[in-house]
Amino acid sequence: MLLVEDDHALRDVVARALREEGLDVITAGDGHTALASATEQTSVVVLDIGLPDADGRDVCLALRARGVMAPVLFLTAKDAVHERLAGFAAGGDDYLTKPFHLAELMARLRVLLRRSETTSTSTLSGLALDPARHALSLGEKTAPLSPTEFRLLAALLGRPGEVVRRRELLRAGWPDGAIVHENTLDQYIARVRRKLLQIGATDRIETVRGVGYRAVSP
Ligand code: CA
Repeated sequence: MLLVEDDHALRDVVARALREEGLDVITAGDGHTALASATEQTSVVVLDIGLPDADGRDVCLALRARGVMAPVLFLTAKDAVHERLAGFAAGGDDYLTKPFHLAELMARLRVLLRRSETTSTSTLSGLALDPARHALSLGEKTAPLSPTEFRLLAALLGRPGEVVRRRELLRAGWPDGAIVHENTLDQYIARVRRKLLQIGATDRIETVRGVGYRAVSP
């Protein structure tokens, strides 16, 4: 499993406890290292939302887009309802507010591990998403994305072939609960499409009229 937490003391305590439970734990202190450490074999991810280089929810989106489908449990100091929802919209499976009891973390991880699948069906094919810089690249070509563009693209790529509903995309793209006009979503998707083309990638986003959007294999 992968434990991503920038608070050294907390990370050490949690890692030790999980290892005592027999889990094979890899640790990371920031989003960049987390992305580099996760593989398709990762069985479960414990992911702090407040990381020094990126929002944990963006890291989760980037993991999903890369085909890492392990269940994700978010850790956060905050307890706002919209953040909880945004965590789920980002592809998270569970949520624990700090401070928490190790026994509760362990109990929740057991549930997630039972559900864990290691199948991967990434539609990235060459695309790389950087959650720290919110950048999209293909080979040498890079296009900067706004945080919202990044979240929308990653939310779509993380669920290949599946229709992601407009409501889910609004929640993923605007995690802080901002009220945005329906048309705004379409405008942002149009911008994401332009950026895909700009770096020489194919437009792999299909419109499903009245329902949402779907990422398909290029
Ligand atoms: Ca933190």
